[in-house]
Amino acid sequence: MPHRHSKIVATLGPGSRSPDTVRLLAEAGVNVFRLNFSHGNHDDHARTCEAVRAAEARVDRPLAVLADLQGPKVRVGRFPGGEIRLGFNAEFDLVAEETTQREGVIPLPHAEILRVLEEGDRILCNDGLITLDVIAGAPAPRVRSPLPGKLSDKKGFTVRGKALPVSALTDKDEADLAFAMQLDVDFVALSFVQTPGDVETARALITNKAPLIAKLEKPAAMQHLDEIIAAADGVMVARGDLGVEFPAEQVPIIQRRIVRRARAAGKPVIVATQMLESMVEHAAPTRAEASDVASAIYQGADAVMLSAETAVGRHPATAVAIMSRIISATESAEDYRRALAQFAGEAPRDTAIDIVADAAFRLAETEGACALALRTGSTRRLARFARRRGTVPVLYGSNNTQRLRRAALFWGVNAYRLEDPDARGWAGALRETAGLEGRIAWSAWKGEDEGRVTAWEIGLEG
Ligand code: PGA
Ligand code: MN
Repeated sequence: MPHRHSKIVATLGPGSRSPDTVRLLAEAGVNVFRLNFSHGNHDDHARTCEAVRAAEARVDRPLAVLADLQGPKVRVGRFPGGEIRLGFNAEFDLVAEETTQREGVIPLPHAEILRVLEEGDRILCNDGLITLDVIAGAPAPRVRSPLPGKLSDKKGFTVRGKALPVSALTDKDEADLAFAMQLDVDFVALSFVQTPGDVETARALITNKAPLIAKLEKPAAMQHLDEIIAAADGVMVARGDLGVEFPAEQVPIIQRRIVRRARAAGKPVIVATQMLESMVEHAAPTRAEASDVASAIYQGADAVMLSAETAVGRHPATAVAIMSRIISATESAEDYRRALAQFAGEAPRDTAIDIVADAAFRLAETEGACALALRTGSTRRLARFARRRGTVPVLYGSNNTQRLRRAALFWGVNAYRLEDPDARGWAGALRETAGLEGRIAWSAWKGEDEGRVTAWEIGLEG
């Protein structure tokens, strides 16, 4: 029986996708593995996915795979010689070209973006390391670099605070999505979501075959936060790109806002990027990093994520083990429940299922049950139980492999295979598999009528 509520997402990459390392990471406590489609080819991802499925058999605990699509990341084109030098206050024309041989111009192969540039806009390149001020807008945009620097081929390009006219899914994303569906991944993450319509577009392509996680990393997304949360099956606080689009001091504020809104809506929320960044090199985190992971746990995030730490870092399994220890320690701290309650968010009106979940947990809690056994065929209904952030663990039983894997992302949920979910004594069987003792509360979904829950059973056993 795992000892923590919040889950760990770990990104696999060249430094970690061998079957042996994936297994070590799983043993160290990973719940969800991320395949990052910004890097690597389809063969790499297929082999990585296979390694996760093999590790799952060894650790005997469901492990989910999340396919993270690159999304419409805008990049500059190519320069003669691979880069240009930006002098103090040097000025450049922006041109809609893939490659340029001319001096004094910056190629940007996106005419649609050049058309919306206005004087006064601030452009950020290379993860925010390079700033360019727009001194003349469309139709012939011109920029000035306030500081010296270098800009090289294909570096990222964004305009701070501006919604850019780019489609939610590129041709590459569509091809990657089709491939990910063949791999039977458990979640799909969408990068640079700007509107709820972006989520709907992806939903139409994927025809409900996998839950969608919207990555919140654009200012436009923050203007439609509640609608995007409602349209998606979960969200990620993507602090890497968020920290390019917003000044750094805004990132913690935005993180708290997103966690509150997602928790209120009952959608899983992942806090991501640079959580243990120094462990890319070193075998121990900084105190500030330990504190950052703890903050996300105090806020009640469903999961915290490792990126470079496990994808290319020198100590991937140590990073997972340390993250797991920080989670456990925070969850046992004397002020944990109080902090958790502060981030529950302003809930919309409770639905029938929230009332059922609340009743089931109250039964478990007042009767001193060791756990709440749960049976439902829908991950969305499972999410409403996780939303309650109960003080007893949820033991989710199912005979459906994919549902068991998807449960791996949710706060406080432990998933176990139940060969015959309809058998008498299923709750006791789950308790035994989990190695728990004492009375167990249970809740099972019985049916619905036109989408409305009509019956749940709640009980107590032992
Ligand atoms: P990425 O997303 O690692 O795919 O860029 C996360 C982030 O931007 O924080
Ligand atoms: Mn990102």
